[in-house]
Amino acid sequence: MFSFEEIKKIRKQFPILKKNNIIYFDNAATTQKPLKVINAIKKYYCNFNYNVNRSFNFLGKISTKYLELSRNNIKSFINAKSIEEIIFTSGTTESLNLIAYCISKFINSYDEIIISHSEHHSNIIPWQVLSQKNKATLKVIPVNSEGELNLRIFNKIITKKTKLISISHVTNTFGIINPIKKLIKTAHKYNSLVLIDGSQAISHITIDVQNLDCDFYVFSSHKMYGPNGLGILYGKKKFLDKFPPYKCGGGMIEKVTFKQTRFSGLPFKLEAGTPNLAGIIGTNKALNFLGNYSPRKINTYETKLLKYALKILSNIKGMNFYYKNSKMTKILSFNIENIHSFDLGKLLNNYGLAVRTGKHCAQPIMDYLKINGTIRLSFAIYNTIEEIDIFYNYLIKCLYFFYKRG
Ligand code: PLP
Repeated sequence: MFSFEEIKKIRKQFPILKKNNIIYFDNAATTQKPLKVINAIKKYYCNFNYNVNRSFNFLGKISTKYLELSRNNIKSFINAKSIEEIIFTSGTTESLNLIAYCISKFINSYDEIIISHSEHHSNIIPWQVLSQKNKATLKVIPVNSEGELNLRIFNKIITKKTKLISISHVTNTFGIINPIKKLIKTAHKYNSLVLIDGSQAISHITIDVQNLDCDFYVFSSHKMYGPNGLGILYGKKKFLDKFPPYKCGGGMIEKVTFKQTRFSGLPFKLEAGTPNLAGIIGTNKALNFLGNYSPRKINTYETKLLKYALKILSNIKGMNFYYKNSKMTKILSFNIENIHSFDLGKLLNNYGLAVRTGKHCAQPIMDYLKINGTIRLSFAIYNTIEEIDIFYNYLIKCLYFFYKRG
């Protein structure tokens, strides 16, 4: 468990927390960036800004070295087998779209794709579009009354025709940790591929893609203290090798003539164009930052924050949590009877409390629950119990305002 002093030291590394005097509880949307990450990006632009892989001048050599160093560190961070399995994209959304595009030629009519009811739109729409285009069937695993995946139904809907299962590791709406290892094991018995959307898990849970045996794992740097606009797509080499190029252009070819193009091997085949090197370097520094703390310690600390928030907010009349169980991490979603989440969120924002309100890009699960949205608190390594106390006090103030108004 982190001591008070350790958290104080961590907080000092985040300039935005000092500057704006805010309480930032919207870490599921994006995390703030430590100075280390910001400085690394600045250093890149000040000292060795250049393109990669394409030139042997000294700037090109440095930038290429940093690109491959970062790729190698990401490989180690998630325990991939080789650097060829690490593809840089612009974010989870692009990674999911890339896989949907590349896998399309292997999905035929009457094949099946399975997702869950709790997915983020970016893990719904690409599969919906692909299923409609290829006349495949999109199946959905429902959730039970605890917000967890209904595995009994999953075991019923998976069949020999299932080609892909795409599931979040941790849901962005309610912070439920899905039993992905179990799902992967079952899916592989049916020869189905499994893609894990790790956006909400990557900064909280140790990810070992070999141990999980997932076929793809995707995440965004900006949700793990890194910069915006940079995503990581992990895929088993044997499947990425079969992927056609997703985009075509510079950096992904061996030979081009007007008749034909011979493409590069992995990972370059899937990385056309100039890469976001500043983002890649910043991501490497974010890994460096995270590497200072054990994931178990981070998870224990964030779970302590979650449990404390659950306890203190339980005192509020009309409080409705989605959900309240042991399979949750770092995200707390709730509504208060007769108050629209949007109105309450707006008022909280006036007190400098940054929380998220609305449907969190997950309309199907909100429709299923028959709600217009929730107020979502999501914690990170720099949040504190004191912040939750302050939040609670302001929340009570806001509620007085609503009740007074009638
Ligand atoms: N998947 C989940 C579970 C998310 O929480 C998010 C973003 O909130 C995404 C996908 C999309 O990530 P990005 O916007 O970084 O592409």
